[in-house]
Amino acid sequence: MDQPPPHEECTNCGLIMVNSGFCRRCVTLPQCPVCKRRLPSNAFDAVPGNCQACDRKNRKKLQKTRHAIDNIVAEVNLPTDDTDTTYERFITRNALDILEVMDEHIKMKK
Ligand SMILES: [Zn+2]
Ligand SMILES: [Zn+2]
Repeated sequence: MDQPPPHEECTNCGLIMVNSGFCRRCVTLPQCPVCKRRLPSNAFDAVPGNCQACDRKNRKKLQKTRHAIDNIVAEVNLPTDDTDTTYERFITRNALDILEVMDEHIKMKK
């Protein structure tokens, strides 16, 4: 009987509101697909896209990958073409070549 009146909190900012989900302020904000936070648009480089915090994490990962790929590319000279708009595409397209090269390297070390 002593229960407080039913209310929901915005899952983003904790503001108490009537409908479930996000409050009216947060529902208009762009959502980062990675961390699921709703953030003001100045927290994004591009909308839709990851927030800057997630972007920075991504870039760090990419830099590491890039270094490894550069070593392989330097030896094999993987061809790039216009469809290589992202690293993922480049890797998918060249995955077999890269795997072969890695295989040879592993065999050579034995
Ligand atoms: Zn909110
Ligand atoms: Zn994020």
